[in-house]
Amino acid sequence: MQIVSIENLSVKYNSTDIFSGVTLAVNAGDYVALAGPNGSGKSTLIKTMLGLIEPAAGSVKIFGVSPSTFADWQKVGYIPQRLVSFSPYFPATVEEVVSMGLLSGKRFPKRLSSKDNEAIDRALSLMDITALKDKKIGELSGGQQQRVIIARAVINEPELLILDEPTTAVDPETREKFFAVIDVLNKNKNTTVMLITHDTGSAGRYASKLLYFDRRVVFYGTFKDFCESENMAEYFGPGSQHLICHRHD
Ligand code: ADP
Ligand code: MG
Repeated sequence: MQIVSIENLSVKYNSTDIFSGVTLAVNAGDYVALAGPNGSGKSTLIKTMLGLIEPAAGSVKIFGVSPSTFADWQKVGYIPQRLVSFSPYFPATVEEVVSMGLLSGKRFPKRLSSKDNEAIDRALSLMDITALKDKKIGELSGGQQQRVIIARAVINEPELLILDEPTTAVDPETREKFFAVIDVLNKNKNTTVMLITHDTGSAGRYASKLLYFDRRVVFYGTFKDFCESENMAEYFGPGSQHLICHRHD
């Protein structure tokens, strides 16, 4: 089943072409590492998948329908690139922020069941933030806030998880924790993952596919195919191709 399908997509900001003619599909259970230079359109591509940006041409489908008519947003977890950092006066506790991940998928009246409370406890413990449960989110460090954001994004066990450079500003321990959690969701729950990352050197340790984007699809396929591709050796130079490949030969 195709979770995301994109055909001949063009996006412009004002009248400037960001990319055009992009076609690709993401299948259920895929773990796609999306890499490419700064400003190459990666964030724009996923915002278009999420219906946050209107295409200039072409089509996007998410779970088989256009984002503008898609209604099951609780199936989708999204962590944007630029984290809003919480003001120290923001009144919500860690537990409340994590529970917002559940409430977004509910109709009114929004009440938490005992099953919801168990899910909250599970998500907190998954990210090792149980002890912070009653703390105000704004009082936490950046790395701790990021753990809370990740717990909120995974609490619904979304079928599609989209993460835009989620570990750029976090400590190594949170980063490892994060990758372990995402790995479990992908392997055990068949969660489809799209992870925008700069870390092409280790992307192959966890992702099953590489999408290299530079205002067009430069490469999309398995790491094995990438590593064996003569075109990619030519495009990147054999040295850089090797850097992307060496960790998982
Ligand atoms: P990436 O995520 O790969 O770094 P982006 O998708 O953020 O790239 O940006 C792609 C291009 O679009 C860049 O040239 C960027 O400057 C431009 N851009 C991004 N957001 C906007 C915006 N809101 N308005 C105008 N231009 C934008
Ligand atoms: Mg970006």
